[in-house]
Amino acid sequence: MTTKRTPLLVGNWKMHKSLAEARADFSAIAELGPKHKDKIQLGIAPVSLHLISLADIRSTHVGVYAQNVHWATSGAYTGEWSAEMLKDIHVQGAIVAHSERRQMNAESNARSGEKIAALLKQGLDVIYCVGETLEEREAGKLEAVLESQLREALATANLSSLPPYEEKFVIAYEPVWAIGTGKAATEKEAQEAHAFIRKTLAQLTTEDFASKVRILYGGSVKPDNIQAIMSQPDIDGALVGGASLSPDSFAALCTETGKSIC
Ligand code: PEP
Repeated sequence: MTTKRTPLLVGNWKMHKSLAEARADFSAIAELGPKHKDKIQLGIAPVSLHLISLADIRSTHVGVYAQNVHWATSGAYTGEWSAEMLKDIHVQGAIVAHSERRQMNAESNARSGEKIAALLKQGLDVIYCVGETLEEREAGKLEAVLESQLREALATANLSSLPPYEEKFVIAYEPVWAIGTGKAATEKEAQEAHAFIRKTLAQLTTEDFASKVRILYGGSVKPDNIQAIMSQPDIDGALVGGASLSPDSFAALCTETGKSIC
């Protein structure tokens, strides 16, 4: 039996846009929501300074996501914010362990698990990023890397103690060599990694849970390659950087995704 998973398209705006630009572009993207309602779930992850302002626009169809979150509820953590604080300002969820944060902020698998737990406890969505570097892929370590990224984070998150979360726990497979390089994984490479992630998730949790979890692909997704990527059985959406920055390009991504699920 195949499980129906609603496609999810999330734009990661990284450290781009002034507040005025972010508000104008988010409002334009929010207008796409009703058109794709019930078929595609949409989200935007702006710079953290803009979260409260975009969440205040209160789009019912486009979720606002943080690009990071702290694992603690509150405390002496200068420059950080908690899942509770995100919930308080009506943010939908957060990206955890984006490869740029893994590289630049030494984000570990175990710490990511604590962040996952903090978000799920607040009923917020998690987009947990996994993926290998080019060196790891070329050394034949793809599966070992993905397995440890999943196993170590899930062990710390202790998911069995949390409220039901299969709709809220999303994985993004983002091969590091494909992010911002213009060189996307082929649909075959992406599907193989996604199938491995789902199989590993089933081993670490249950078959039923793994069949319900959405796995997004990220890495140089564009309007002209998203349809082929989305046509793969284990690919349930995309986490998009560069091509999500312009509302026109984001609209094209939605249109092409819509074609692949018709
Ligand atoms: C990303 O930052 O998550 C990403 C996938 O970027 P890009 O689409 O630009 O490769």
